[in-house]
Amino acid sequence: MTEILTIAVSKGRILQESLPLLAQAGIVPVEDPDRSRRLILPTGRAGVRLVIIRATDVPTYVQYGAADLGITGKDVILEHGGAGLYEPLDLGIARCRMMVAGLPDAAREPGIRLRVATKYVASTRRHFAAQGRQVEIIKLYGSMELAPLVGLAHCIVDLVDTGGTLKANGLVPLELVAEISSRVIVNKAAMKMKHDRVKALLRELEAAARPGDRDRRSRRCAGAGEGL
Ligand code: AMP
Repeated sequence: MTEILTIAVSKGRILQESLPLLAQAGIVPVEDPDRSRRLILPTGRAGVRLVIIRATDVPTYVQYGAADLGITGKDVILEHGGAGLYEPLDLGIARCRMMVAGLPDAAREPGIRLRVATKYVASTRRHFAAQGRQVEIIKLYGSMELAPLVGLAHCIVDLVDTGGTLKANGLVPLELVAEISSRVIVNKAAMKMKHDRVKALLRELEAAARPGDRDRRSRRCAGAGEGL
């Protein structure tokens, strides 16, 4: 009997950008994940199924072996801490930066104890501790950009892609915390027990994620629209 491999994938942008890479490995969900209400999706590849869940839950499912592999952002892995996981592959998708941001003069006021609003508490603590700076961290769950505007915090730590959200709110990027992209994570026990299947899948995803392959795919997509 084929042993089952379960892959946990983060909902949203990461799912959308992962699907073409998974398809290259023959992993195509039997139903459209955006429309389906099924929580476990079989795929066209024998013995491989997907669970589509919140990004922050992906490392937990993989850590406890409920999923053998996961696809999630480095930001989420940094917050989780990585216990019980290997992180063997950078897919290079959903790229952005984790940044300290604030009003233009925010982090430069001397002598004040910075108040930093973020949902990335662990990464924020590590970032400022590495500089020997003690900061007060305020945990938020969304709309971090609001905090400096209403005096809740001096600055924020959040993900920045185009910078458009910061700009629209009069904020500027101040310091880089980490370069972020989506990674494949693997349960440590699964890497041993299902070694051959996991390794084969990682090789296929690595080939699909190579920049040359990605460029060719996006040219094909662009070309298709132009009737080429
Ligand atoms: P932008 O305006 O393009 O800089 O995007 C910033 C907003 O998008 C912030 O609210 C971020 O939390 C969110 N964001 C940007 N990149 C990502 C990503 N790779 N994954 C999840 N959220 C992101």
